[in-house]
Amino acid sequence: MTDKKPKHRRGTEVFGDVVLAVHGGAGALSRAVITAEREQEYLQHLESALRTGFVLLKRGKRSLDAVEASVRYLEDCPLFNAGRGSVFTADGTFELDAAIMDGRTRRAGAVAAVSIVRNPISAARAVMQDTKHVMLAGAGAELVAAEAGVEIVNPSYFFTEQRRKQWEELGHHEHDETERKFGTVGAVARDRRGNLAAATSTGGTMGKRAGRVGDSPIIGAGTYADNATCAISTTGHGESFMRTVAAYDASALMKYRRMGLARAATEVVRVGLDSVKGQGGLIAIDASGNCALPFNTSGMLRGCITADGEVYTAIYRP
Ligand code: ASP
Repeated sequence: MTDKKPKHRRGTEVFGDVVLAVHGGAGALSRAVITAEREQEYLQHLESALRTGFVLLKRGKRSLDAVEASVRYLEDCPLFNAGRGSVFTADGTFELDAAIMDGRTRRAGAVAAVSIVRNPISAARAVMQDTKHVMLAGAGAELVAAEAGVEIVNPSYFFTEQRRKQWEELGHHEHDETERKFGTVGAVARDRRGNLAAATSTGGTMGKRAGRVGDSPIIGAGTYADNATCAISTTGHGESFMRTVAAYDASALMKYRRMGLARAATEVVRVGLDSVKGQGGLIAIDASGNCALPFNTSGMLRGCITADGEVYTAIYRP
């Protein structure tokens, strides 16, 4: 499963010839808290998510289709904090956020605080394709999703016993302990034509206030794609990514400071995020297939696949 060996740049894993990368969240992920069995499950699902998008890219589909498919796979998997398996709000409800961006046109779509859409990433795509807007929240977003034929579910669909337990343990509200676990999912890809795309989907942070929207659906904070620079999807403490406009920051460093992908991605985490004591990481890819996976937490569920189908998946620090 872990065939491909990373190169390193200041603690950041760097790869070449990558066509797709995914993440399943960053945070307090250590061998002390994750069983060997759960570790294998995580790695297998990351690999399946990579292969789901990869098959489409191989068939000549667009990067937009690939990132949507990979994220849908992870949304449907109850282990991750997106779609089924999302975390609870302080009120014990579900409010999901997602965004998708096309690097070729820089068109983007996002949904915030939806609670009846099975795959929020497809709702985000519907916002991008079927409306004149970039972001819709709540009932308005759900209506666009339903009109586009995206599956509507009862909010109980998102429930998992594991999340209920975590919510009970936290006393129903957000905690500020030194390191938390974030389980947002995301994908970035490059297709045969060199077009980039990014997608991110999340249940947000455990015990968040009702109405809180994080970085994931904010274009430029948690999600960004521009063929001229890079495609980015982030995970971690959303407020920090919003305050540092992290995803766009990587693109801006490439565009205006002429940095390469690995350096730009590393700076966003080690300079930008660290400057507000933010925790998390990101996945980044450019049109030449360079890929970087930096994070400042103890772990990040992550993986990438190259054009010849070689897979790399990992959880802990390299
Ligand atoms: N970034 C997400 C948020 O703040 C959380 C995560 O990455 O799990 O909503």
